[in-house]
Amino acid sequence: MANATSATGVPSPLVGEGQGGGDGRTLPVGIPPTPNPSPQGGGEPPGVAVGDLAIARAHRIAAAVVDPEIPVLTLEDLGVLRGVERRRQSIIVKLTPTYTGCPATQAIRLAVEAALAEAGMANARVETVLSPPWSTDEITETGRRKLQEYGIAPPARGARARSLFADETVACPKCGSTATAKISEFGSTACKALWRCQACAEPFDYFKCL
Ligand SMILES: [Zn+2]
Repeated sequence: MANATSATGVPSPLVGEGQGGGDGRTLPVGIPPTPNPSPQGGGEPPGVAVGDLAIARAHRIAAAVVDPEIPVLTLEDLGVLRGVERRRQSIIVKLTPTYTGCPATQAIRLAVEAALAEAGMANARVETVLSPPWSTDEITETGRRKLQEYGIAPPARGARARSLFADETVACPKCGSTATAKISEFGSTACKALWRCQACAEPFDYFKCL
């Protein structure tokens, strides 16, 4: 076992082949030919193709996942589900983050992946979509009502046109009074501000506009 055989000097059998034009610049440039995406009901083998029913099912599952921070809100209520599409044999669930750097974003992604896996949809995965950015205007009417019932003042409308630092009129989610004042820019989470109602003296969270 002590035989130290040196491999130096053994010529590689590959040396000497393909010497003409090996500068790597001869690759064809341009758009690779895209095969015609198989038409509905085309030649895809059954059992492999992702059907419309599977797409709809993945959409339903993802839409029903709740926000870990505000468990009364589903992703559909929040408006972060940007669509579900088929890509070859996979189902892509497209989500957009709410606030950049919001810790809930990662939790939401994991929750969706878990829900899809639990439903046996092994071919579904989550993709993050950054553009166009999410705005609180995308919270649905149902979502706004749920927020209010949960004790969080829903964000004012027209958020995109509004500055975070502009004076805002926020109605108390408990009594509806607009005699309210901001106590702190940060409430229970970074995306909420802490307000207090002067009519009923209750503090409450206000979902900040974005
Ligand atoms: Zn009040």
